[in-house]
Amino acid sequence: MKFLCVECDRQMGFAERELPGDGTLAAVFTCPACHRAVAMLTNPMETQLVASLGVKIGGRTLPQQPMELLRSSMEGGRADAFADAPPAGKAHPSWDEAAKERLERVPAFVRGMVQRIYTDYAAEHRIALITPDVMDQARRELGLEGM
Ligand SMILES: [Zn+2]
Repeated sequence: MKFLCVECDRQMGFAERELPGDGTLAAVFTCPACHRAVAMLTNPMETQLVASLGVKIGGRTLPQQPMELLRSSMEGGRADAFADAPPAGKAHPSWDEAAKERLERVPAFVRGMVQRIYTDYAAEHRIALITPDVMDQARRELGLEGM
């Protein structure tokens, strides 16, 4: 997804984004020449679509999802639509109560994906128990503030 400043004929750059708790995504693009800004606001389903297409959020490409997963999440909105089995040979971290609570506040349609991002992060760092501190650390390192 790209925006073009018509006046300058320049491609606008991604300036900021936000993923508030209600699942909406706001992205701001600015023109490098005239600094005109446009904001894109998407509803939760569009956010899901954007995320599933691998749009970079905070410098990290979210895991790309096959379209059939997108379709199944549209049909039923299953919370575990994006939950995969952990990669073979990796530890399977568990979640402490506070971290589980925090995960519960993530919109259901992206919860599985968010859970997998944190689980993969913990597995890669050989962290056995996911706590809110681990989630903060992962968000900082992965550039996922707001998730
Ligand atoms: Zn411009």
